[in-house]
Amino acid sequence: MNQQHQDLIDRDRKVTFHASSHLRDFAHGNAPGRVITGGQGITIRDKDGREFIDGFAGLYCVNIGYGRTEVAEAIYQQALELSYYHTYVGHSNEPQIALSEKIIELAGPGMSKVYYGLGGSDANETQLKIVRYYNNVLGRPQKKKVISRQRGYHGSGLATGSLTGLKAFHDQFDLPLEGILHTEAPYYYHRGAEQQGMSEREFSAHCAARLEEMILAEGPDTVAAFIGEPVLGTGGIVPPPEGYWEAIQAVLNRYDILLIADEVVCGFGRIGADFGSHHYAIKPDLMTVAKGLTSAYQPLSGVIVGDRVWQVLEQGTGEYGPIGHGWTYSGHALGCAAALANLEIIAREKLTENAAETGAYLQRAMADAFGDHPIVGDVRGVGMLAALEFSANPEKREHFDPGLKVGARISAAALEENLIARAMPQGDILGFAPPLIATRDQVDEIVARTRRAVDRVTDELV
Ligand code: PLP
Repeated sequence: MNQQHQDLIDRDRKVTFHASSHLRDFAHGNAPGRVITGGQGITIRDKDGREFIDGFAGLYCVNIGYGRTEVAEAIYQQALELSYYHTYVGHSNEPQIALSEKIIELAGPGMSKVYYGLGGSDANETQLKIVRYYNNVLGRPQKKKVISRQRGYHGSGLATGSLTGLKAFHDQFDLPLEGILHTEAPYYYHRGAEQQGMSEREFSAHCAARLEEMILAEGPDTVAAFIGEPVLGTGGIVPPPEGYWEAIQAVLNRYDILLIADEVVCGFGRIGADFGSHHYAIKPDLMTVAKGLTSAYQPLSGVIVGDRVWQVLEQGTGEYGPIGHGWTYSGHALGCAAALANLEIIAREKLTENAAETGAYLQRAMADAFGDHPIVGDVRGVGMLAALEFSANPEKREHFDPGLKVGARISAAALEENLIARAMPQGDILGFAPPLIATRDQVDEIVARTRRAVDRVTDELV
């Protein structure tokens, strides 16, 4: 590492509280740091000038790839004209209007309005407030509980961290908050002993039955909403088993429970459709979007409100006056300008189609390279989302001793190969979510580097 890079990291250690980091180890120089200075296409560059293929598109967000001057130009032009004015009490800006039209068009029939925030967490916070308001207006003040899934990821605030179904996001924070419950994850690979003999469809029916049991135990008149990612993301990149969403939606409809589709990862092309909901025939009442909305060129998120909920929100403001909800930066003009330029690129370059086609190639290439690898228990994914799950005994689907930190070691070995692949936070799982611009050749390179990394750690383990 060059001296300039080292000096920057030393300064950083003294003053920055990093997200999802080992605070003590980083502050005291016992965990590595890296300063990223640039990016182009699917690669990023650090202060040493070392280049990495970013196999995770930042945090599954830089879908159009790095270094798009067109988006930078759109942000610049908007900043010259109007960088900001609030959007309270009916104020607007031109990019916001055009963007809302575009999002509603993409989201499809039944979707009515878009509320803007800055990130997925605050958007899901808005969802929770909408759900409460909705049931209060309808005169059902007891109908407030929200059901999420184990291994779901919906953010890391107090309420959204509660929706998240991962231990590290709850422990020491006194979460989850009351009224937020977690049902079984649709994780076919890790189905319990009693579900061993089940087909995917049977396992989906089992998950739906577990959900129904929870609703009945709590009292259907107390359960307001269910939230889920079309494909479990941070919880392990787990596509749903066959028939899952159909079975879940049947239960929700039976008890008049709203469905929130958290499209923060899947939205805008990642799995080869505009939304994960379209891919899996999910009919949500509310949708959460962020990440791919701007490809992270600006922070921006959105809550897409369906007609059914919108009617009630209108009724509520008719009765109670203007809604008491708003962020200073809702509908930020620079975020909306970035989103418009980003969505234009996705459409023009047919990146959603590429996510379907090159994504299918990625799935095949991963299956070919790792299908019978001695420490790979599961190869899974959809579109440009993929995961390898490592196992001490793939046939018996046994976990490695967590102390071996196999997932983290393989991610570190990939980094040695100048490839970023993410060690997912729970389990020995290596995740991939390359930018949607990735070509077949680039996919081959990602798979080849991954194979070398996995083989190296395998050699250390045996
Ligand atoms: N929802 C999903 C599905 C996510 O994957 C994430 C972040 O990874 C969030 C919500 C939270 O978004 P943010 O980190 O922008 O607050």
